[in-house]
Amino acid sequence: MKKIQMVDLPSQYQHIKETVDASIQEVLNSATYINGPYVKEFQADLEKYLDVKHVIPCANGTDALQIAMMGLGLEQGDEVITVDFTFAATVEVIGLLKLTPVLVDVEADTFNMNIDALKRAITPKTKAIVPVHLFGQCANMEAIMQIANEHNLYVIEDNAQAIGADYTFSNGTKKKSGTIGNVGTTSFFPSKNLGCYGDGGAIFTNDDQLAHTLRGMVNHGMYKRYYHDVVGVNSRLDSIQAAVLKTKLPLLDSYCDARRKAAEYYSNAFASNPNIITPVTSDFTTHVFHQYTLQITNGKRDELHKHLLDNNIPNAIYYPVPLHAQKAYQDDRYNEDDFTVTNQLIDTVISLPMHTELEDEQLEFITKTVLDFVG
Ligand SMILES: *Cc1c(COP(=O)(O)O)cnc(C)c1O
Repeated sequence: MKKIQMVDLPSQYQHIKETVDASIQEVLNSATYINGPYVKEFQADLEKYLDVKHVIPCANGTDALQIAMMGLGLEQGDEVITVDFTFAATVEVIGLLKLTPVLVDVEADTFNMNIDALKRAITPKTKAIVPVHLFGQCANMEAIMQIANEHNLYVIEDNAQAIGADYTFSNGTKKKSGTIGNVGTTSFFPSKNLGCYGDGGAIFTNDDQLAHTLRGMVNHGMYKRYYHDVVGVNSRLDSIQAAVLKTKLPLLDSYCDARRKAAEYYSNAFASNPNIITPVTSDFTTHVFHQYTLQITNGKRDELHKHLLDNNIPNAIYYPVPLHAQKAYQDDRYNEDDFTVTNQLIDTVISLPMHTELEDEQLEFITKTVLDFVG
């Protein structure tokens, strides 16, 4: 059996090696390292794939969030609501921009933003909501957009984990995740569903004016060369990464299918076990399984984590500490009672190997090892 990896990037690369190598070689030969043709081509391809008017490539998913918030003109003291259960980048940029993060709890089954908690968190100072489409499925965007419209708030979708997911509104309209709010952001970190071979990110919007603002902001606030209208940043997707992404984008849907197939194998195997809760997908979204995350309800999650490692099965706890309890983000404003679900999830969740190259033999070994232990 092939060695099991949490994310098997070397095997995935072997399938696309010829095309990727040739495109990287082309960048080297032409020395178009920055803003070369591949950056523009990938941008156009992604706009088409997402059916969104503007994609603004940038250096990574964290920058994408920061620049989106700068572009919307959020200012010191503005409250930005996001979830307690996510990767820290989301709240990090809120802090960096001296905005006020307001963390809310998530739903126990989907791990996404709890709508009642969102409603309770809104104050006259609230300016924006940042739903995170965690582990590969969309948050309840219809409810979030309705609340945002009622209160005149911006919505920034952190789509780093769900690129390729489809959202269906109650009237039947479909949209790609990340294209529903005022602005969406993503990351092309190598292990993300659409990953490059270094760092990369992008911002999406249908708003022409905002897109113009963002394009200048990623490039030192320049709208005309050497004329700096606003304080910007230097955040670019380099041409080599764009070349990799242009090759991989046409494969994204098949990558999502491969992940879904592995998830289905896992969920079928674990379906009848009373100590395991398998991932639940909301009806309004497809799931692209950035992570396949179980909840272990018999108190033995940590032991299972070690047992799997002893059997050479990589696995991870996403996330071990809620953001409200992280040293950098602790605040007297937070009340433990407001985070009952997150506080429980950090003790029960475990993510199994999930990638595009999982083989049945490996899935069989992983599920058997989990079930033998959990009982
Ligand atoms: C990965 C990730 C980010 C940050 O992306 P980088 O490219 O690593 O900066 C932001 N938000 C979420 C939810 C992520 O998973």
